[in-house]
Amino acid sequence: MRLLVVEDEKRIADFLERGLKSAGYAVDLAGDGAAALNLVHAADYDLIVLDLMLPDIDGFKLLEKIRDRTAGPPVLILSARGNVDDRVKGLELGADDYVVKPFAFVELLARVRALLRRGQPAPEKLAAGDLALDCVRRRVTRAGETIDLAPKEFAILEYLLRNRGRPLSRTMIVEHVWDMDYDGLTNIVDVYIRHLRSKIDDPWPVKLIHTVRGIGYMLDLPEKPAEPVPER
Ligand code: CA
Repeated sequence: MRLLVVEDEKRIADFLERGLKSAGYAVDLAGDGAAALNLVHAADYDLIVLDLMLPDIDGFKLLEKIRDRTAGPPVLILSARGNVDDRVKGLELGADDYVVKPFAFVELLARVRALLRRGQPAPEKLAAGDLALDCVRRRVTRAGETIDLAPKEFAILEYLLRNRGRPLSRTMIVEHVWDMDYDGLTNIVDVYIRHLRSKIDDPWPVKLIHTVRGIGYMLDLPEKPAEPVPER
């Protein structure tokens, strides 16, 4: 996966480059609109992270130019301009997501991953660390050990894994895993997560299912705490 980061502030550009590279992506940097356009025409990117306030062109104009050519890769706007008008304009011009500075890197990374996952065929085998899930054979292993899951537990785990790194609300989980006839409480999710944890997390030192306060749950390998980056 190859990402283009369009950002004129070197400190933020370097921070993004370091973080995204350590998350396993190839990263190119462009410090202004002209450099960004050259790179977009020369290379095939899987995603563009776009700052709006650039020295030579407004980021919205640049987005139009990028979108002019092709449908192109997904674009995530990363900007200190956080008002509703800017967000709406960005999305109307074809951006796929909008993150406001200052931002937590883990959140940015989660959104980058979600965008990159979009549009790809659903893989048959999912994994996080030593946890592996085979969607076709309906088999789950951790560190090579087979784990028996009830159908709903399997469905929740599959949903968490397909959205790895992305916090999912209880409502999203219920809507995804239970059918439309279910009109009970969303705290049934907590009950099932407890069962899942006892099977896939409790016996191992590295925990994969995380409670996201105020939202719900997320599955991922533990990451370093968020480092907020202030925009000058
Ligand atoms: Ca800027």
